Amino acid sequence: MELVHTIAEVRARHDAARAAGRVVGLVPTMGFLHDGHRSLMIAAGAECGFVTVTIFVNPLQFGPNEDLDAYPRDLEGDLKLAEGAGVDLVFAPTVAEMYPDGAVATSVRVNGLADQLEGASRPGHFDGVATVVAKLFSIAGACRAYFGEKDYQQLQIVTRMARDLSIPVQVIGCPTIREPHGLARSSRNAYLDGVERQAAGVLKRALDAGVGAIDAGERATDAVEARMAEVIAGEPRAALDYARVVDASSLERRDVLHGTVRLLIAARVGAARLIDNVGAQAG
Ligand code: AMP
Repeated sequence: MELVHTIAEVRARHDAARAAGRVVGLVPTMGFLHDGHRSLMIAAGAECGFVTVTIFVNPLQFGPNEDLDAYPRDLEGDLKLAEGAGVDLVFAPTVAEMYPDGAVATSVRVNGLADQLEGASRPGHFDGVATVVAKLFSIAGACRAYFGEKDYQQLQIVTRMARDLSIPVQVIGCPTIREPHGLARSSRNAYLDGVERQAAGVLKRALDAGVGAIDAGERATDAVEARMAEVIAGEPRAALDYARVVDASSLERRDVLHGTVRLLIAARVGAARLIDNVGAQAG
């Protein structure tokens, strides 16, 4: 496995891999890697002859009062995990390498999909995500790119962005990896102490309660969302941001559920703001 820090090196390695007939698999991350990231690398390795992991804490996607400076970092640990997962190349650029002019004048905005849910709670977040992912796709060239369903709205946005801009990257979604008590693996779980970590299992329990209501025949969106909120309210360490059920592809909220839907939740537990989601079938 090789570690590189420049865009030129990534382009050279990917050009060589493609020239040798290998499909490039790309796994974009913000580092502090865990089993969730690892599952993306394994999926990429199973389908691609050359796997690149990018590690970049992207300032563009953090709001002014968010955790950019506190965001956990551990390049040494990340390199060990990536090597163990069979990764070929790690690209860990500096902020200056990615944004040599400081602020970018060009921003990618995916209208509609980016406005609600995380987009409403974190204004500008998805513009930062779409812009850096467009940049990473441009750097990587033709490839398959692996993203987690854990960040479901991000996955939809990145998929749409690649389609809309005819970027030669196939976006592949991978299932969420969880701890045994249901908590989705996340770099931000590092903000939780032991008691909070247990308490944070409430997000998955709330999602499961929502799916249970749908499976039992509930079709009123309000009622399913209220059921999820009720479960969160039962955990004193958790404070709900939103609990929503939306169409799985458009992310639009309808009063009456039908077809394939997605239940999404965001809540604070201690210093961490956590998100999670699951799918369900409403008739
Ligand atoms: P991040 O480093 O948090 O920006 O995440 C990088 C990629 O890993 C994104 O595509 C995430 O959706 C994915 N990811 C993060 N956590 C998980 C998880 N628990 N299961 C599966 N994928 C994940």
